Amino acid sequence: KITSSEQAIKMEEKHGAHNYHPLPVVLKKGEGVHVWDVEGKKYYDFLSAYSAVNQGHCHPRIIGAMHDQASTLSLTSRAFYNDVLGPYEKYITEYFKFDKVLPMNTGAEAVETAIKIARKWAYERKGVKEQEAQIIVCENNFHGRTTTVISFSNDENARKNFGPYTPGFIKIPYNDPEALEEALKSNDNIAGFLVEPIQGEAGVFTPEDDFMKKAKALCEKHNALFIADEIQTGIARTGALLAVCGNCTCEGHCERQETYSRPDILILGKALSGGNYPVSAVLADDAVMNVIQPGQHGSTFGGNPVASAVGVAALEVVKDEHLAQNARKLGKLFRDELNKYIENSDLVKLVRGRGLLNAIVVNDSEESSTAWDICMALKENGLLAKPTHGNIIRFAPPLVMNEEELMDCVQIIIKTLKTF
Ligand code: PLP
Repeated sequence: KITSSEQAIKMEEKHGAHNYHPLPVVLKKGEGVHVWDVEGKKYYDFLSAYSAVNQGHCHPRIIGAMHDQASTLSLTSRAFYNDVLGPYEKYITEYFKFDKVLPMNTGAEAVETAIKIARKWAYERKGVKEQEAQIIVCENNFHGRTTTVISFSNDENARKNFGPYTPGFIKIPYNDPEALEEALKSNDNIAGFLVEPIQGEAGVFTPEDDFMKKAKALCEKHNALFIADEIQTGIARTGALLAVCGNCTCEGHCERQETYSRPDILILGKALSGGNYPVSAVLADDAVMNVIQPGQHGSTFGGNPVASAVGVAALEVVKDEHLAQNARKLGKLFRDELNKYIENSDLVKLVRGRGLLNAIVVNDSEESSTAWDICMALKENGLLAKPTHGNIIRFAPPLVMNEEELMDCVQIIIKTLKTF
């Protein structure tokens, strides 16, 4: 049994693969916007497990649904039907207004699924010659860790010595509609454009407001699928149900043409379970999804009864607790407050983001340890955040935070920054 943080860290160090570099804090309990370490110290969680815990830690409604289902029927595989998957599929497709969903578990699996669907669509609907389909992606993307997905990453650390790489991807700069048009125009074999509406891992890189709209229009014009990876940005994180909803303030999809850049394929994960279970999904209309036939894709756990029950509860919470509105309101407050501080600071260059997906860029090189040191000091002061790249710190608390808690966190962050 673990009785100290030191003991837990040593155990992981000795017995676990060293594929992460965690902040040295060992958590034992979570509730709402807070987590506690093994020694009993309480922290604000300002990472939310990379935006999975949007609904807050251990949300009783989601845990209740998970517990009830787990003690009734947990796994059937898709060899048989179960009585939870259908209702979940109906609920999620009506929620996001797509004809069909393909349920998976992790984000990377859902991205792989979207790639498979897009390629098959290119061969069977668009008439691309077999083996020649191309998918356009963006520089500095992050879509997961599988061999195909890292094949089109340009993060050397994520890629090096994992080849040979999967072909069939064309990279263009992010936030560059001209480059997208050029890539679409110069190649008849484009299956789709795979894009993050905000590049989370790249450092919450937030494109021009009209980038999604332009990208969608260009894909439509050139008969290519517009594929949105909303694994990190989706489900209320950016102050709208999806980041592709733009500045729409409604709580569901009103399909407002002026704001909503409706993807042909929508990829969700993370907060689809409120962080309680691995649940991911790919949504599309029949014209696209129906290219997949029995035996061509699947997963033992994808769409299992527990995941289905958890998915419904997690999405209900987002709507019933108005999390998109809260993220929008608190996000603006957060950026306003930090911008006031930045005016007189040499340390922080800028704050950027949308809703409660934000980051500060520290005025230092990517190789420096300043951002890491700031996160260590934040930890001492009771707030957990993590650098993404050497000089960027992402701030993404659970969306169930209230204004008083947010202002408390702003004080902690500013007080900490002032010591550097
Ligand atoms: N796509 C995006 C945009 C992500 O942020 C992530 C995870 O951070 C993934 C895909 C991969 O998800 P997972 O870690 O569940 O495989």
